[in-house]
Amino acid sequence: MDTSVKGIVLKTKDYKDNDKLLTILTLEKGKILVKARGVKKAKSKFKAFCQSFCFAEFELVSSNGGYILTGVNEVENFYDLTTDISRFSYAFCVLELVDKVCYENQEYLNIFIDMLKCLKQMKMNEVNVELTLCKFILNILSFEGFKINLNECSNCGDKLNNNLFFNMSRGEITCEKCRALDDIVLENAIYSSLKILYSNSYDNLKTIKFSKKILNNLLKFLTNNIYFRYEIKLKSLIL
Ligand SMILES: [Zn+2]
Repeated sequence: MDTSVKGIVLKTKDYKDNDKLLTILTLEKGKILVKARGVKKAKSKFKAFCQSFCFAEFELVSSNGGYILTGVNEVENFYDLTTDISRFSYAFCVLELVDKVCYENQEYLNIFIDMLKCLKQMKMNEVNVELTLCKFILNILSFEGFKINLNECSNCGDKLNNNLFFNMSRGEITCEKCRALDDIVLENAIYSSLKILYSNSYDNLKTIKFSKKILNNLLKFLTNNIYFRYEIKLKSLIL
């Protein structure tokens, strides 16, 4: 049966001599695998669209529990993101993270919409891509039920002030009196930047300026958090 879905190609893999296997996060069907036949041939009309960052409407036909590509209409391309190496590595982290967090054949509407917003932002010149990636990681954690409570101590429920600690294995903040042995110090700069990121939309990010050091520490903190939640290391990240 023919079906049409809107989606973004997360990754591609060579398959047999001339085919590719596309991993696509779609609006309608969540993450799916699609076989694109003959796309490695020079004459293939789908060739240009069978690569990461392509946002398109894909025509598919079901076959043996999977999908085969029969048509593509490009909606928007994010190839601009691939022309600059640092922009590329941060943008690629977005795709990599989505691919690792999402299971096949499950819907991820929030993640799909947020990924699109994030990539659109990253395309703009005046935007700090590193900060945008931090916002995306925070959103992913929230969608997946790991939102960090920035208001109260996770143990006693007291309002958080200074001298905060963070438990990586639980992904929670504790106050000084509840600090456990394996809790690490949560720098005030990281804590404040998390608050700022939570309360600002992608559009507002261009008005926020963090120093390089804070941004770097923030990204390390967030990627560590991802590692503890999912055992995922983002390969495309240059730190
Ligand atoms: Zn406490």
